[in-house]
Amino acid sequence: VTVVTQRIQAGIRRRRELRRLRGDAVECPCCGTRLRAFAPDWNRPRAICPRCGSHERHRALALYLRRTPRLLDPGTRWLHFAPEYALERLLRAAPGIRYLTTDLEPGAADVAADVTALPFEDGAFDVVLCSHVLEHVEDDVAAIRELARVTRPGGTAIVLVPIDHGRARTYEDPSIVDPGERERAFWQHDHVRLYGRDFPDRLRAGDLDVEALRMSEWAGPDAVGRHGLLPDEEIYLAHPRG
Ligand SMILES: [Zn+2]
Repeated sequence: VTVVTQRIQAGIRRRRELRRLRGDAVECPCCGTRLRAFAPDWNRPRAICPRCGSHERHRALALYLRRTPRLLDPGTRWLHFAPEYALERLLRAAPGIRYLTTDLEPGAADVAADVTALPFEDGAFDVVLCSHVLEHVEDDVAAIRELARVTRPGGTAIVLVPIDHGRARTYEDPSIVDPGERERAFWQHDHVRLYGRDFPDRLRAGDLDVEALRMSEWAGPDAVGRHGLLPDEEIYLAHPRG
């Protein structure tokens, strides 16, 4: 089966899913599509937008941008790590922002860079978006220090990581390197730790002040349902310490 055939088949599946879910009970803040429900993915029944592929965290971030329009003012300098399609599409459409993407893998983004040694000047960006990256990075505090360095004073680093909310303290064990063992211990074959509720302390250890937006409170139950968010998910707004 060729790549082209796979794409055509995926397109057919997507259109069928969009038809099946036609309705107006939920709305994707990434692409604006209205549906009867989001589609299942992994172990979650209402995880994914069949139009743009957004997951709960992407929709949470898109809702945050919708409610914080100053972050998209013309001239705002953005750095987006490991850009996810649903959000990159939204940000590239924002008129006048200065938008740059970066990824460890060459060719995956505008600039190939290691988050622990970024090729950018101090304070180069007004907004830095770093979602579901740090759980892959061995020296995450070094990465956080780099986020703090390249974010201008008064700017915002928007950070998300997968968190086990039942866990008070982050679980790390550098001796676990086998992909299967990592998946069992840290939820995914290429994660190097499992963050607990102490994650904001790591951001503080990397010279950032932190504010947490918990979806159940910040968005509220109506928006959680309407936009298919995870109630326990938190967006961390981090600011370089003066
Ligand atoms: Zn969507």
